[in-house]
Amino acid sequence: MTMQTNDSIKVGELEFPPRKVWLKTYGCQMNYHDTERILSHLSGMNFTKTDDQSDADLVIFNTCAVRDLANQKFYSHLGETKKLKTHPDIDPETGMKKNVIVAAGGCIAQTEGKDLVKKYKQLDFAFGTDVIDNIGEMVYRAYAGEKKFTVTAWDRSDNYSIETKITQGTPQAFVNIIKGCDKFCSYCIVPFTRGREKSRRLAEVVTDIKRLVEYSGIQEVMLLGQNVNSFGKDNNESLGQLIMELEKVDGLHLLRYTTSHPYDVTDDLVEAHANSKKLANHLHLPVQSGSNTVLQRMLREYTVEHYLKLLEKMRKANPKMVITSDIIAGFPNETEEEHQETLRLLEDAQFDNIFAYAYSSRKGTKSARMDDVLTDDIRGRRLREVMDLQLSIQAKIRSTMVGQSYRVLVDGKNISKGVQKWQGRTSCGRIVHFEPAVVDQDYMWHWVDVEITSSTALSTQGKLLQDLGKTL
Ligand code: SAM
Ligand code: SF4
Repeated sequence: MTMQTNDSIKVGELEFPPRKVWLKTYGCQMNYHDTERILSHLSGMNFTKTDDQSDADLVIFNTCAVRDLANQKFYSHLGETKKLKTHPDIDPETGMKKNVIVAAGGCIAQTEGKDLVKKYKQLDFAFGTDVIDNIGEMVYRAYAGEKKFTVTAWDRSDNYSIETKITQGTPQAFVNIIKGCDKFCSYCIVPFTRGREKSRRLAEVVTDIKRLVEYSGIQEVMLLGQNVNSFGKDNNESLGQLIMELEKVDGLHLLRYTTSHPYDVTDDLVEAHANSKKLANHLHLPVQSGSNTVLQRMLREYTVEHYLKLLEKMRKANPKMVITSDIIAGFPNETEEEHQETLRLLEDAQFDNIFAYAYSSRKGTKSARMDDVLTDDIRGRRLREVMDLQLSIQAKIRSTMVGQSYRVLVDGKNISKGVQKWQGRTSCGRIVHFEPAVVDQDYMWHWVDVEITSSTALSTQGKLLQDLGKTL
């Protein structure tokens, strides 16, 4: 229960004066969405966001455990927070800056929370991925004086039921529809950090999105899940059905979803891509490797042939479809021939873009227990070969955009070579930059039509054709 008293808010027994929270997010869109949820809960406790860590009363890290690089960045950033506790504005009793609370949440905290709290003196509490909605309670405990605690419980209820929280005031919203992952790919830590798969009910998601469109001005929705196209399996529902229900929501203009597993691409999902007018002309479908023997060792449950067939079906269902993917270079004991098979797949699949990573061993996963003859140098070289080839492929694909017009929702601006440009994303997920028709004209969150004038592998420039304003 919260009660407003002047500037302070009374929560339970405690007064919460206006305070600042600084948040740092690592990793995937799921984490960014969780951070938004955290912020929304904290705004009810009188916290506003600050981008200046030294100005913060509460510092929260939302961590990612998928690759070692993200882990190392977090440890280093957490180490730096030591100085916050020795800020000049110190509490003579504790020798620490008054009220600066440091917390770590998310995937690393889920599996290592207790150790982190023990190891890092300045860390007040750690919390896992399934207790995001209890952040208010944890912050309350910290301000009530409780120190060094960890909350990493799993939600054991049968249903996954939430209401989407948004804090940004933009027409775009992330909507979680499924959490966890049951796939246990041999290299991946996610099933250990995010738990078992659990879907929301289709009707709940539709009501949630209708509310966002009607009351929060949302026009574009990204449906989220680690394995989003496994949505509804336990309830006899499917992502394809959900998309076709959302098709009927007036005022919703664009629908995206991520991330999909090739094994779970069903015929009704392919049909949704053929029939839905709101679904983006884009599919992110991580393949990971172009070698069947590596896919087997990864426990991916599909073959290269099956994957290519899926692309064919998708492109037939929607000829405008643009496909992007993820590749892991240097999976344990990947042979040179297996690596070459991945390069061949890039040629065959003609991806518009890929996220390519060098394999990173994650403690607790099956592949971390495999003997491995590859060195970091070999992995690095293979990763560069994958990226170089992909860049040359995508430069060619994107050159076909020149002369075509695209509708984009403007989501930012930047200055390039002294020229002010606006940017937005096409339905097929490509970022397009364009110059304003009139200097100082504000296009933020406008829908505009743009004709592509030039493109490279990584950037696309356009000419403004028409400004349609903030709603279609
Ligand atoms: N659920 C999605 C799927 O099945 O493809 C992917 C989610 S995962 C968090 C995002 C990407 O991280 C994966 O597609 C994979 O390419 C990469 N990844 C996961 N574990 C990795 C590891 N141990 N080393 C390198 N990359 C990894
Ligand atoms: Fe990780 Fe595989 Fe689950 Fe994707 S499907 S989150 S790669 S275990």
